[in-house]
Amino acid sequence: MVDTRVIDGKSRAARLRADVAAAAAALKVRSGIVPGLATVLVGDDPASQIYIRSKCKATGEAGLNSFEHALPSTASEAELLELIGRLNADERTDGVLVQLPLPQHIDRQRVIDAISPAKDVDGFHAQNVGHLWSGGKALIPCTPYGCLLMLKEARADLAGAEAIILGRSNIVGKPMAALLLAENCTVTLTHSKSRDLPIVARRADILVAAVGKAELVRGDWIKPGATVIDIGINRIATPDGKSRIVGDVAFAEAQGIAGAITPVPGGVGPMTIACLLRNTLIAACRRRGLAEPDL
Ligand code: NAP
Repeated sequence: MVDTRVIDGKSRAARLRADVAAAAAALKVRSGIVPGLATVLVGDDPASQIYIRSKCKATGEAGLNSFEHALPSTASEAELLELIGRLNADERTDGVLVQLPLPQHIDRQRVIDAISPAKDVDGFHAQNVGHLWSGGKALIPCTPYGCLLMLKEARADLAGAEAIILGRSNIVGKPMAALLLAENCTVTLTHSKSRDLPIVARRADILVAAVGKAELVRGDWIKPGATVIDIGINRIATPDGKSRIVGDVAFAEAQGIAGAITPVPGGVGPMTIACLLRNTLIAACRRRGLAEPDL
């Protein structure tokens, strides 16, 4: 029986946010610059509205400028691209974040392509993806970067570790693979067509679940002592007619098997927003050729 440690994403995120705030304050004193994040919400999806609200609140709390833009769900792709063009050219804006998902009539890839790579704080633009895989100076997608920061604290050494990632999306699974490869892990990226997933998962020293299927990963998928990072956010119905959020890992079953595990909620989620603030600060410095804080 392993003594499982629960990785506290909330407190790690609070620390990163405080570090960003301190670095932003120092930047202001040194150069008078206040980094600015522009968010763009298209439509009125309630979950997206909540995400945008918490991102903007956190931006202000870290001493960064927050510029909120909202377009109706009927806005055309051309209108959205025109707004992105203006934000790309705006001197006070260092980061441009377009909240996903977008309404069906808007081509998501065309929108991502339109964001200036220097202001692409989500790290989704092909130029940043290329830099990430080739070891260049990328803006790194927030969720996987947050996971990496937590992993670095949870494990003494990542080099040589067997890392199995469940899920190969462009925004989570693939960049997570690039980051762990750069840390010299032996990386396996799996997906919905992968065979024998429980057996593959059981090889992992580091198991990252980014699938979006409630409690897919059972206790017997986990190697004793493994570090488990649960990225999934799934809402499930409860017997009292309400609902609750669970991850992709059966958290209770992982107790006593995993060496360390992130909870859902309170694990990866808070780190994602903290890393967005970090990316905005990094983008503000990089764009102007200023020294970047090591965050
Ligand atoms: P996504 O785009 O839907 O990708 C899901 C991936 O999981 C795909 O690669 C898919 O395979 C794979 N998959 C689906 N069913 C599978 C199965 N039964 N076995 C193995 N692989 C399977 O989702 P995403 O955007 O990466 O997000 C994944 C989860 O993370 C979601 O729950 C999302 O809400 C959550 N998330 C959380 C945060 C956070 O801040 N905490 C941020 C982003 C996402 P194919 O490629 O073959 O279809």
